[in-house]
Amino acid sequence: GMASPALLMRVVASAYSVAEKAATIVRSVMSAGDLGIVEKAGPNDLQTKADRLVQKSICASLARKFPKVTIIGEEDLPTDDVTEDLIEDGQCEEILKKPCPAQYTGIKEEELVIWVDPLDGTKEYTEGLLDHVTVLIGIAYGGKAIAGVINQPYYNYEAGAGAVLGRTIWGVLGIGAFGFQLTEAPAGKHIIVTTRSHSSALVNECIGALNPDTVIRVGGAGNKVIQLIEGKASAYIFASPGCKKWDTCAPEAILHAVGGKITDIRGNSFQYNKEVKHMNSAGVLATLRNYDYYASRIPNNVKESLVP
Ligand code: AMP
Ligand code: MG
Ligand code: MG
Repeated sequence: GMASPALLMRVVASAYSVAEKAATIVRSVMSAGDLGIVEKAGPNDLQTKADRLVQKSICASLARKFPKVTIIGEEDLPTDDVTEDLIEDGQCEEILKKPCPAQYTGIKEEELVIWVDPLDGTKEYTEGLLDHVTVLIGIAYGGKAIAGVINQPYYNYEAGAGAVLGRTIWGVLGIGAFGFQLTEAPAGKHIIVTTRSHSSALVNECIGALNPDTVIRVGGAGNKVIQLIEGKASAYIFASPGCKKWDTCAPEAILHAVGGKITDIRGNSFQYNKEVKHMNSAGVLATLRNYDYYASRIPNNVKESLVP
């Protein structure tokens, strides 16, 4: 019969199902009404009951299926109290059926690192900006983001009755990305998407220097990369520390799978091996097209202010 699918495809197929389970948790915590908000570093760095439950669900579910994979989640949590109702065992059949790119067929469990942001855009979640929220599962091999899943639990939440709530976007380098319609941003316009809740003088100075036609301020690294691949924005620019590896790993894999590019503000690519520093200290610059145009217009003093 058929050979068993390659490890990478089984991990992505599991991550897809685990992310859909995560979305049901994100929605049910919100409808139950008690968010259980905890401040981490301060009022702009929050954790809710959804962040906690989802991380437990994702990490425990993937660890059970792939015990030798390194899994790094955003939240600092005890790992010993995961209840059985949080475990997801499913695997997306459509993903299992896709052939694994040849360069990834030999990957072993101990060579993979999975970066988990259980809920990206927590600040916006607590403020009811629900479509800014994503669940991010990024898969790295050899220090590179090679596959990712982005679930948007409240996609379509304002589209009215009849619209399907939520979606799952996934991608693998060498296969492509699925679950959305790849769309080019309007030609000749500079539409910058950036943070809404973590601005600074440097963030705004950098955007100003790019002479944008429009600036979109929304929450979430996942959400902002979705804006790039759906043609709503031409560049995601964040000239500040604050964003971490779990914010960029899944979005990077999906963006790169469709020909886009993400780096720090100085043009350095991100590394995702398990020993790496979590903070993306030198910010984020991402585009679907015309990366060089935006990179060449970042002022030198902005670059020099951000130390990788
Ligand atoms: P934002 O674009 O502000 O939604 O940020 C994207 C991701 O980076 C989110 O996960 C934020 O929580 C995180 N982030 C960015 N800046 C900061 C900061 N100053 N403190 C804590 N988290 C941050
Ligand atoms: Mg995040
Ligand atoms: Mg988070």
